[in-house]
Amino acid sequence: MRRLLVAGNWKMNASTDMAKALLSDILAADVQHCDVAVFPPFPYLSLAADTLADSAIQFGAQNCSTAEAGAYTGEVSVGMLQDIGCGMVLIGHSERRSLFHETDAAVLAKTERVLAAGMTAVVCVGETLDQRQSGYAELIVKQQLSALLHQLTEPQWSQVVIAYEPVWAIGTGETATPEQAQQMHAFIRSLLAGVSQKVADETRVLYGGSVKAANAAELFAQADIDGGLIGGASLTAEEFLGICRS
Ligand code: PEP
Repeated sequence: MRRLLVAGNWKMNASTDMAKALLSDILAADVQHCDVAVFPPFPYLSLAADTLADSAIQFGAQNCSTAEAGAYTGEVSVGMLQDIGCGMVLIGHSERRSLFHETDAAVLAKTERVLAAGMTAVVCVGETLDQRQSGYAELIVKQQLSALLHQLTEPQWSQVVIAYEPVWAIGTGETATPEQAQQMHAFIRSLLAGVSQKVADETRVLYGGSVKAANAAELFAQADIDGGLIGGASLTAEEFLGICRS
């Protein structure tokens, strides 16, 4: 049985005051019925580590370097994230793919680093509107997952969460219908079955793209949707906790 995960991607939004208030509201809500994770920007990760210590709420970074250490100005290594207690890293978000030219090869390299550190990789995939309208949505998602499907071993998959995030639904207010999302999640699970039935049965596949408290329950009720990766709606405690309660 896969336990639902609701993860908040704060993107490049926060201040110390905002992060403190949001983290303490999430902590106080004491959500029991699903796993909860937050992905604050790098400068607030230590605050998350201190605030969430001894709680079941997990926290992670929104990106990491492909390199281990050294002369990579501006980069943050997996070792550093591990050092401050991060349990998770978001990899291959569509904004990183489109704005920062992150390739599938970089996604694989980052994922392998995260897994080697014993952390969880939340790997994002999803098609653009053009790709969907041209009938290529499944092909694109398959391509984005291909290297992982070929390179990762069965035990490594226990440290991977996939987030299906159609690019046309991210930050647009336009959510995939539960049927559209379920269809893609079932397809992703069929790809995972190519690794093994255990991997297909146990890997969590989150949906992301304009999830709100008002539409989360219907999405999360789908057989192959195991929770959500939440952007805008993760920035207010009431909305984020409303999604967690869904
Ligand atoms: C995201 O950025 O991962 C996301 C899903 O954003 P939003 O919920 O705002 O669409």
